[in-house]
Amino acid sequence: MSGVSQGHRSVKELVDRYARQRLLPFLGEEGQKRLEQSAILVVGCGATGSHIASLAARVGVGRIVLVDRDIVELHNLPRQVLFEEEDVLRERPKALALRDRIRSINSSVEVEAYVGEFHPGNGEELCRGVQLIFDGTDNFQTRFLINELGLKLRLPWVYMGVISTVGHVMPILPFKGPCLRCYLSEEPRAGELETCDTVGVWAGAVSLVSAIGFTEGVRILLGDSPSFRGLFTFDIWSFQWRVLGLKRDRECLNCGRGEYRYLGPRGSWAEVERVCGENVVCVRLGVFSYLELMERLKRCGEVKEGEYFFKFRSEEGREFTIFSDGRVLVFGTQDFQKARSWCARYIGL
Ligand SMILES: [Zn+2]
Repeated sequence: MSGVSQGHRSVKELVDRYARQRLLPFLGEEGQKRLEQSAILVVGCGATGSHIASLAARVGVGRIVLVDRDIVELHNLPRQVLFEEEDVLRERPKALALRDRIRSINSSVEVEAYVGEFHPGNGEELCRGVQLIFDGTDNFQTRFLINELGLKLRLPWVYMGVISTVGHVMPILPFKGPCLRCYLSEEPRAGELETCDTVGVWAGAVSLVSAIGFTEGVRILLGDSPSFRGLFTFDIWSFQWRVLGLKRDRECLNCGRGEYRYLGPRGSWAEVERVCGENVVCVRLGVFSYLELMERLKRCGEVKEGEYFFKFRSEEGREFTIFSDGRVLVFGTQDFQKARSWCARYIGL
């Protein structure tokens, strides 16, 4: 791409784009070059993912790979950057909308977009050639997959999460520090955690998580160590923060014992299937807490209890039937990715 032109000149011939950041002692000429030679993978292009992609493009990270399974929706706009109302009206996939915006912000950045789910079958391929993964996902199944891939491929990654006004950031260096499973030995069970669709999320918390996560990622790309070891947690509204010091757990399933749950021939991944002849998709939850889920959903919509199942209708009108054996019927779609995405939003995957 030749870039934006002004008169007969391309933008590359104008003033030095990076002059202000090159003055920073930790960056300089060499650091800037290193960023331009770096490649990152952003898994999930929602709130944190879109912020990370925006920052990476602006500071000149050379190659950015974007993965996302969702379409831009109106309720994303308060906290997901670079998306516009037009993207909502055109029902654009987030990865593609973000790719196009990034190209117009910095035409010297190479950007690739993959529309779909990040899963055990394509994870390794999507990581090819990158030096760092940013977690922009909204679910722990994908985060634990990233954790396993990070260990297998010796790829550092940055875990980020935001809910309500609370944020978490954890830079993870495979085998050199604690991994996600050293912190959480088991995946939170489906239904156990609140989600942004049940308790809300504050845009300022997203920006802060992204700024910290991105800066830690850049430290790693520049060959520095992260500025903290463990989990950084804050509540931007009450202005409280702390670093939870963590150490590698020698008994950790992933980095201690070398066992993987999602990678490999016996890897597990929540199964999804279409329900024959209906506008319904059946999603199978992994570990599952039926009663806790029902109690939690009662607070954010209408719940009707049946025998071994209950029906849930969200305030937006999305309908689900949840069975005690872990099956969830998602109404109103035949699209696997949409069904998984709605499940992740209300039920947690
Ligand atoms: Zn570990």
